[in-house]
Amino acid sequence: MVPIIQRNVGWIEVICGCMFSGKSEELIRRLKRALIGRQKVSIFKPKIDNRYSKDHIVSHSELKIHSEVVENAREILERSLESQVVGIDEAQFFDNDLVEVCQKLANMGKRVIVAGLDMDYRGIPFDPMPQLLAVAEYIYKLQAICVICGNPATFTYRTIEDPNRVVVGANNIYEARCRNCFQAPPEGRKEKQAPAAQAEKVTPETPPVEES
Ligand SMILES: [Zn+2]
Repeated sequence: MVPIIQRNVGWIEVICGCMFSGKSEELIRRLKRALIGRQKVSIFKPKIDNRYSKDHIVSHSELKIHSEVVENAREILERSLESQVVGIDEAQFFDNDLVEVCQKLANMGKRVIVAGLDMDYRGIPFDPMPQLLAVAEYIYKLQAICVICGNPATFTYRTIEDPNRVVVGANNIYEARCRNCFQAPPEGRKEKQAPAAQAEKVTPETPPVEES
């Protein structure tokens, strides 16, 4: 009889980047590989993300995989005790408990794959992603393509004015932008640096364009 090798070593993989960088697609790809390998896989997403589908994780390219919606990070722990692989999408919408939950799962010998936005629309690190990145064994930062200039993009630019940190949406509200073409909204800049006098001039109708 072929011996079954039990390797009780868990770890955390984090897939991060801006919107349209293919995070969900990469998460789905990895989870599907695990499923093909007949591993026990659980997949979770926070309740806030109701775009496209309630019981699936769907990428912008419409790849999808069945997932469970959870109210909070603790629920993930309770629901994945039997799993070998645990996938979590939209990690930035969970609170900081997610870090401890991922650590516990990895300590139990599970492979934990987490995908999430590393910065919000102001270009500010999006908790709990920085903490997750710090404790992860493997980190994958993906880039999108800047819609203004075509360079690799790492920022998510919001095209509408809204003071809320979270406005769930896709193509019509957000754009991927590079460092040069990204401009934080006025309130975001105040947090990042001294208030800029011209910050008030920035409106969604006048996105920054490179001077020729
Ligand atoms: Zn650009």
